[in-house]
Amino acid sequence: MKRIQGWGNKETDYPVPEPAKRYLEEVVGKAATLRNRPVEDLLKKVPDSKLPPHTLIKTEPADRLSHARGQSLNDWVDMCDGLVDTFPDGVAYPTSEEDVRKLIQFASENQVNLVPYGGGSSVVGHLTPPGEGQPTLSVDLKYLNQLRNLNEESLEATFGAGVSGPHLEEQLKKQGYILGHFPQSWEYSTLGGWIVTRSVGQQSYHYGRIEPLFVSGHMETPSGPFTLPRVPKSAAGPDLRHILLGSEARLGILTTATMRIRNLPEEERFYAAFFPNFEIGALAVRKIAQAELQLSMLRLSDAMETETTFQLSGEEKLVNIAKKGLNLFGQGEERCMLIYGLTGDHAANQLADRQLAHIVRSYQGMMVKFYLGEAWMEKRFLTPYLRNTLWDLGYALDTLETALPWDNLKETRKDVLRSIKSGLEDENEPVLVFSHISHVYTNGGSLYITYLYRRAQDPHQTLDRWKKLKASASQAIVAHGGTITHQHGVGIDHKDYISAEKGTLGMRMIKDLIKDVDPKQIMNTGKLVDLD
Ligand SMILES: Cc1cc2nc3c(=O)[nH]c(=O)nc-3n(C[C@H](O)[C@H](O)[C@H](O)COP(=O)(O)OP(=O)(O)OC[C@H]3O[C@@H](n4cnc5c(N)ncnc54)[C@H](O)[C@@H]3O)c2cc1C
Repeated sequence: MKRIQGWGNKETDYPVPEPAKRYLEEVVGKAATLRNRPVEDLLKKVPDSKLPPHTLIKTEPADRLSHARGQSLNDWVDMCDGLVDTFPDGVAYPTSEEDVRKLIQFASENQVNLVPYGGGSSVVGHLTPPGEGQPTLSVDLKYLNQLRNLNEESLEATFGAGVSGPHLEEQLKKQGYILGHFPQSWEYSTLGGWIVTRSVGQQSYHYGRIEPLFVSGHMETPSGPFTLPRVPKSAAGPDLRHILLGSEARLGILTTATMRIRNLPEEERFYAAFFPNFEIGALAVRKIAQAELQLSMLRLSDAMETETTFQLSGEEKLVNIAKKGLNLFGQGEERCMLIYGLTGDHAANQLADRQLAHIVRSYQGMMVKFYLGEAWMEKRFLTPYLRNTLWDLGYALDTLETALPWDNLKETRKDVLRSIKSGLEDENEPVLVFSHISHVYTNGGSLYITYLYRRAQDPHQTLDRWKKLKASASQAIVAHGGTITHQHGVGIDHKDYISAEKGTLGMRMIKDLIKDVDPKQIMNTGKLVDLD
């Protein structure tokens, strides 16, 4: 059963091992154990619905509470500490395109704000109902989850847009195919959510981001149905797929999507390598990316992330032995771990592995072909559960991300990390911050930053701390010309920063498009951009 407070299902836990607790106490200090507000209290806060009755709409408090927020830090404080104060006025669970059309019609006639709900895994406030004004209806797409068509000749599969990651791959695997889109939220996030937020899977290096996987689709909009043609490529003017991609529900509800699929890979393996420090590791990763080796993943952790990963593994003895071994081979205190993936046929994997090993060694690196890569693979969808246990221990954890050209990555990283590390100095609160490079391209890479700080007794203060850290990091990213988001999207949290990337005319184009397709402003108002 899905948790209302925190990430994932209630049956899964990822305990923080004792040595890791000691490590966190050393780095950020001992935290006070704080209890979540009982769910019963939150249910009592759900006000009467402002929606007129409709056969497809449920207005029970439990449905409305469970669709009130996503997974941003602000959402966590709202749901766990009880600050949640806006709720959808109802939740609909359409089972067909016709249902979706009826709901849009209803929203248009009654001036209702529609918030499509996929897996609820947004980390930037995409799902928060606006406080005042028109009522909000959450449209949960979980029943639009079937494989509608499999075209084996063109290697394409059409799905209902509400299908979750595991259900999508399970349906494809039975037929011998794979989509290969594995964001860390894969357990819950959905195809529709991936498309409208421009999501990126962990093996994007092989399978691509969601954009190249998305062939065509059908969206129900307030101005009528909109279907993209099924063509492999087109020179017929601007690519309208890119208007749906990243539209963040401002244009309509995506009901189906046709995706490029592949044959299941013959084999898949994950291994590790170490570099003496981040600068050298980043040079090697750039070299590997620019050599265009046939890998499926490259992820270089900085020294702090490498150390924290070791500590959180709970394998104290093993870690001490590993560190001694690494030291002997010149991988000292500043060591940085690279995890890489090989996906494909055996011969191609072997070749890529040899080519990678050659580059790694030429940058003073050391290959580790046992345990670490496999351990990463096994825990890759379990790691988000750590956020639950850390929260219970009194620590708030959040992430942010950007992408930059190689020539600008190093300086930006330093400034962003510095801004976060010193972000709570005025309160004498230390912050643990670390980063990794992932999703590499020949001309640049994405930078993924994780930070952890102590929750305060007063949840407003926990939130204020997050706001300070998020604002200073975002400002540093934008000042360096980085994108405010490489994969999480804009939602509410990044809204103030997208004009730096789009420019005045670009912002006008986006706003005019939304106003044209959604003249009554009933689609996810207040997200992505503010309309003038
Ligand atoms: C633990 C964790 C790990 C994550 N890891 C990654 C990662 O590796 N890569 C990555 O890219 N992101 C990641 N994310 C962010 C998040 O999973 C993505 O943004 C994801 O694409 C959201 O999909 P969802 O189905 O959960 O959408 P939701 O959160 O339900 O919705 C997000 C937005 O999409 C809209 N929407 C959803 N479905 C539709 C539809 N059918 N039609 C129109 N609009 C729709 C919603 O209205 C909302 O505006 C992570 C989040 C968490 C919590």
